[in-house]
Amino acid sequence: MLGAHTAVGGVAQRGAIWHSGRRLMLVRLRTTTSDAARDPGVAGEHGAVAVRGVLRDRLDRRVRYVRMSLTDRCNLRCTYCMPREGVDHVDRAELLTFEEIERLAAALAGLGVTKMRLTGGEPTLRRDLPDLVRRLRSIPSIDATDGRLRVFMTTNGILLPGLAAALAEAGLCGLTVSLDTLDPDKFRAITRAGALPRVIEGVEAARVAGQPGLKLNTVAIRGFNDEELHALCRFAWARGMTPRFIETMPMAGGALYVPGELMPAAQVRAQIAGQLGASVRPHHGGDFEAAGPASYWRVDGGADDGRVFGTIGAMTENFCERCNRLRISARGQLHGCLAYDDAFDLRRALRDGEEGAVREVLGAALGQKRAAHDFRLDGGGGPVKPMIGIGG
Ligand code: SAM
Ligand code: SF4
Repeated sequence: MLGAHTAVGGVAQRGAIWHSGRRLMLVRLRTTTSDAARDPGVAGEHGAVAVRGVLRDRLDRRVRYVRMSLTDRCNLRCTYCMPREGVDHVDRAELLTFEEIERLAAALAGLGVTKMRLTGGEPTLRRDLPDLVRRLRSIPSIDATDGRLRVFMTTNGILLPGLAAALAEAGLCGLTVSLDTLDPDKFRAITRAGALPRVIEGVEAARVAGQPGLKLNTVAIRGFNDEELHALCRFAWARGMTPRFIETMPMAGGALYVPGELMPAAQVRAQIAGQLGASVRPHHGGDFEAAGPASYWRVDGGADDGRVFGTIGAMTENFCERCNRLRISARGQLHGCLAYDDAFDLRRALRDGEEGAVREVLGAALGQKRAAHDFRLDGGGGPVKPMIGIGG
């Protein structure tokens, strides 16, 4: 009923599954030796937590947010995300169906989850995506601002020109488009495939459709796009989007990570301030989520006075302490952390259909959620899984 695995061999531990105050069963939780050494809290009795009322992990962090990967396929092959040789794709039959995703989302919303983000791979590759958004948006979530589950999506934008209007109409609450450069040749190089005009057209289609919550995500890469950070900001601001700059993370065992390319968030801010001829200061409030990984910054002075951008300092400004999320891979595996390989078989729990099975898997993942990641600036400490399979 319950599965836990890691990509690397390691020690097996026994953990109890608790439900409604009763110990239901003992399960074997596998974790890597090095994981256990890095975070002794994963061992022994911390193998699972009771799932009652709302989701809380073993460190009492409340989980309100789930990232749902719809596919591990992509129409781009970004150099920091997708291994050059590709990945072993999930068979279609292994993907969670829309019915399963809807059932799962309803269960999660009943446990206090207010927000779900659709990601991938490239989520727009799933057929009938607006239908899924509509179905998810109709799920009641008492804690959510409008009483229904809030649904968001992150996309590379390539297929947005034909989809943006339908997604907005289906009630998508926010849309993040990933874009690392405004130079078509550099875009082709970093994505190993893509045509920049399609993304720009996609952004425009979303804007025209009145899509709320538009954001632009850029992985800041020294020697690649550091000279155009301000241009990406202005591109976003001109289209009603909030630009955000992400530090590159050593996923895929560090194989795609180049230490010299990391641009620390503080450097990103200094660079943008210099390029805009202004200063920047912390910005709080409004639509800018306090619980998310991004910190937001307001431009002071110059032509862009009052504009806001975000930085996501996964490597240099750790935000694990306020982590509020779980992740589900395209394969239907529940990952407590982006930065570790432990995963629990949610798909099997859903398909077995036994009452309580999903809660048990949730309890196991919450019981194993780590205090913090161990990403290292030299590229070590990360998981074996590539980003493409888990969706950021
Ligand atoms: N295909 C969609 C896209 O590109 O927006 C959704 C999936 S993608 C994995 C989600 C986000 O993860 C993107 O914004 C991408 O830039 C970011 N990302 C991918 N690999 C990364 C890495 N190694 N470090 C930091 N961010 C990464
Ligand atoms: Fe595809 Fe997004 Fe990964 Fe690029 S970052 S390869 S667009 S999943």
